[in-house]
Amino acid sequence: MTIGVLGGGQLGRMLALAGIPMGFDFRFLDPSADACAGEVGSLMIGSYTDEKLLRQFAEGVDIITYEFENVPVHSVKIVEKLCTVHPSSAVLHSVQDRLQEKLLCATLGIPTAKYAQVDTPDQLPAALQKIGFPSILKTRRLGYDGKGQIALDSAEDNRDAEGMCSKNLCILEQRVPFTRELSIIATRASDGAIVSYPLVENFHHECILRVSRAPASADSSLAEQAISIATTLLQHMDYVGTMTIEFFEYQHQLLLNEIAPRVHNSGHWTIEGAETSQFENHLRAISGLPLGATTARCNSAMINILGSYPDLAVMTKLEGAHVHFYGKEPRPKRKLGHITICNTDRQTVETTLEKAELMMPPAI
Ligand code: AMP
Repeated sequence: MTIGVLGGGQLGRMLALAGIPMGFDFRFLDPSADACAGEVGSLMIGSYTDEKLLRQFAEGVDIITYEFENVPVHSVKIVEKLCTVHPSSAVLHSVQDRLQEKLLCATLGIPTAKYAQVDTPDQLPAALQKIGFPSILKTRRLGYDGKGQIALDSAEDNRDAEGMCSKNLCILEQRVPFTRELSIIATRASDGAIVSYPLVENFHHECILRVSRAPASADSSLAEQAISIATTLLQHMDYVGTMTIEFFEYQHQLLLNEIAPRVHNSGHWTIEGAETSQFENHLRAISGLPLGATTARCNSAMINILGSYPDLAVMTKLEGAHVHFYGKEPRPKRKLGHITICNTDRQTVETTLEKAELMMPPAI
C-alpha cells in the first residue's frame, strides 16, 4: 500500500520510518527539493496549489494524509475527489483558523483563553479593552512556533500590533498565567475506536518547544479532562488519524490552546517510550488497521535539537538516549532533530536530560 503525504518534513519522514517495516511505501509532495522525507520515500517537488501536480500525486497512492496543517484546504479537496484522505478537508478547515477553532471549542463546551476577534486595526482598542494586558495578538492563519504572534504588555506595544492586524485577520488572546503546558495525543480509527497516550508536559522557550516529559505527573482528574476533550473533538469531527491537543493548565483546569490535526513534536517520545508510536498509530488508523497500545514503557524526556547538530558520539554516550537527526541543513532555530531519553526511573531521566542540555549547542 502506498501512502501519499502532503508535506515532506521530519514528521513525514518519521511516518515513513514507522510505516516501512509494516510494508507501506511513501510518496511525499513538498515545495522544497531538499525536503528531508525524500530520503525515505519518493518526493514530488512543487506547490501545494499546482492542481496538475496534485492530481499526479493522488494517482498511484492508496491513501493520502498530511504532516503539515497549513496545506490549503482547496488542495486537500482536489485530492479528496481522487483518493481517500484522512483527516478530511473538513477537519483541516475547522483547525486552520484560530477563530474557527475557538468557536468550535465554544460550541462543544471546551474551555479556552478569553479572546476577541480583530479584523481591522480600528477594532484593536475595543479588543484590548475587553481582554486587557498582558495579551497576545495572533494571526488567525499560518502561525506556528510563535510566528504571527505579538505579545502585548502595555499600550506602547500597539504600533507593531496595528501593523499586524492591518495585513492579517487576527485574534487577541488573554495571556494565560499558566502553571504549565500539557498536551494529549489521541488516535481515532475509522470504526470509531479511540486510544490516547499519557499526558505530556511541554516546556517552550521563545514559543518553540524545547523539552517534553512523559508521562506528565498529573492527577487523574487532569488526565480525565484531557481524554474527555480529545474524545469530544475526535467524535465531533468524525476524525480518522492521530490528533494533538495543546493545553494550558491554569487553576487545575485545562484550557485548550491549539489543535494539531496530525502527529506532533510533543509525541516524538512515543517512538521509544510507548508500546506503539504516534506515527504507527496514525498509519494504522488511516489504513484501517486495529490501533496499537499507547501505554508508556518507561519515563521519557524529549529534547529538540535546534539550529545546529550536537556531536553524535557524545550524545549516544548518554544513558538511555535515542538520537534522531532529520538530515536537514542547519539554520538558526530550525528543528534539526531530537533526542529521547528513556528510563524506568524518573530521576535518572532528569539527570541525563541535564547532561544532554549542557552538551547541546546553543539554539541560535
Ligand atoms: P501557539 O502557536 O498558539 O501554540 O503558541 C506558542 C506558545 O506561545 C505556546 O505554547 C505558549 O507557550 C505561548 N502562548 C500562546 N498563546 C498563549 C496564551 N494565550 N497565553 C500564554 N501563553 C501563550
